[in-house]
Amino acid sequence: MKVLKFGGTSVGSVENMKTVMDIVTDGEKKLVVLSAMSGTTNTLVEIADYLAKKNKDSARFVISKLEKQYYQTIREMYHSEEIIERAFMIVEDCFDTIKSFTSGEFTENGEKNILAQGEIISSNLFNLLLIQEGYKSTLLSALDFMKIDSDKSADQFYIEKNVCKLLEENPSADYYITQGFICLNSDDEIDNLQRGGSDYTASLIGAAIKAEEVQIWTDIDGFHNNDPREVENTKKVDSLSFDEAAELAYFGAKILHPQTVLPAKLANIPVRLKNTMNRNDEGTIIRSQTGSQGLKAVAAKDGITAVKIRSGRMLNAYGFLKNIFEIFEFFKTPIDMITTSEVAVSVTIDDPKNLDAIVMELKEYGDVELDVDQTIICIVGNMISTSEGLAMKVFDALGDIPVRMISYGGSDHNISVLVSTEDKKRTLQAISNHLLD
Ligand code: ASP
Ligand code: MG
Repeated sequence: MKVLKFGGTSVGSVENMKTVMDIVTDGEKKLVVLSAMSGTTNTLVEIADYLAKKNKDSARFVISKLEKQYYQTIREMYHSEEIIERAFMIVEDCFDTIKSFTSGEFTENGEKNILAQGEIISSNLFNLLLIQEGYKSTLLSALDFMKIDSDKSADQFYIEKNVCKLLEENPSADYYITQGFICLNSDDEIDNLQRGGSDYTASLIGAAIKAEEVQIWTDIDGFHNNDPREVENTKKVDSLSFDEAAELAYFGAKILHPQTVLPAKLANIPVRLKNTMNRNDEGTIIRSQTGSQGLKAVAAKDGITAVKIRSGRMLNAYGFLKNIFEIFEFFKTPIDMITTSEVAVSVTIDDPKNLDAIVMELKEYGDVELDVDQTIICIVGNMISTSEGLAMKVFDALGDIPVRMISYGGSDHNISVLVSTEDKKRTLQAISNHLLD
C-alpha cells in the first residue's frame, strides 16, 4: 500500500480537493494523510496568540471569520443534503472546541488543541467528499495511533502497533484518510509534530505499515537544484539518496519537513515528491541508491548565529571541545556547523533561545564572539568531498564573497559554507552559474 500526503495548498480550495480526489481514487487501496487547508494553521496560530495575550475580542473576531469561511466551503463542496448536514456538524463541533478556549485560563495545551482542528476539519471534509461520490473511504483518527514520547520523538513502536490494528479493523475500505501533524504526547494530551509536520506523519506511517512508497504531494515538481525563490531557472532534481535529501531538507529546502527522511531511510521506503497541479510528472524520488555522481543541489538556511570561542587554553589541550559541547547540550541547543583552529572554535546554531545563558557559560573558557544574521549554504551531491578539483571549483564560484565558515569533508555528500544573509542571493547565484548545469 502507498501513503500519499497532500499539503495545505493541495487541499486549499474546493477545486483542489476535487483534484486530490481524482488522484486518490484510482482503485488502488491507499492511505491518505492531509494537512489543514492552506492558511488555516496560520490563522489558528493567530487565534492562539490573541488568547495567550488575553485579547479575547480579537480572537473571537478571527474565529468567527474562519468559521464562516468553512461554512461557505461546505456549501460549495457537496451536493448531498445528508453529507452537507454531516459536514456542518463536524465543523461546528471543531469550532465549539476552539471557542471553549476563549474563556478561562489559556494554556499551551489550549494552543495545541486549537492547532489540531485544522487537520481534523480538512480530513473530515475530504472523507465526506469521497463518501458522497460513492467511494469506500474511512477516516482514521491520527490521535488513535500517532504518538510522541517525553523527548518529543516519535514513538515508532506505538505507532506501528496501533495503525496496523486500525487497518486490520477496517479491511473493507479502499481509502484510509487521516490527519497529518497532530498526535498525542506522553501525557496523552493533544500535541503536534511542529509546523510542516504532516510530511513527517506520512513517513512515520509509511515506515509503520511498510508502505511500498510514501508520496509527498505539494505545489512544486520536486526538489530543485537551487532555491526557486532566490535564483531563476532552477531545475528539478530527478533522484536523491536519503542522505542527500536529508541534508537539503534540513538546510533550508522548504519542500520537505527535515525529519521526514529518517523513518523512511530506516525502513528503506522510497519517498517521492509530486506536484498536485502536474500529476503526470515523476517528481523527485528519494531512495537508498545514490545515483549519479557529482553536485546535485544547493539549499540555504537563514537565521543562523555563529559563535566563536577563542582561548589560549585550547592549545595542545584535550577535553576543551567536550567542555564547550556540553554547554550546548545542557541547553538542548543543536550545533550545525563546526570549524576549529588551534586557538579557536566556531560553531553555528539556529535556535538562539538560550544564547545569552550559553554565552555566559562559554565565557569561562575564553573570549566569545557572535555573528548574527548568517546563512548556511549547503551544497549537496554524491561523493563530492572526494571529487577531484571540486573544492577549487567551489572556492572559484565563491569569488570575493566573504565566507565566515566552511565545512568540507564531514560527509561524502555535503559542503557547507556560512555567509552573511545579505550575501545569500549572490552566493546561490554564483554556485548555480559555476557548478550546476
Ligand atoms: N498544518 C500544519 C502546518 O501548517 C502542518 C502541515 O501542513 O504540515 O504547519
Ligand atoms: Mg509542508
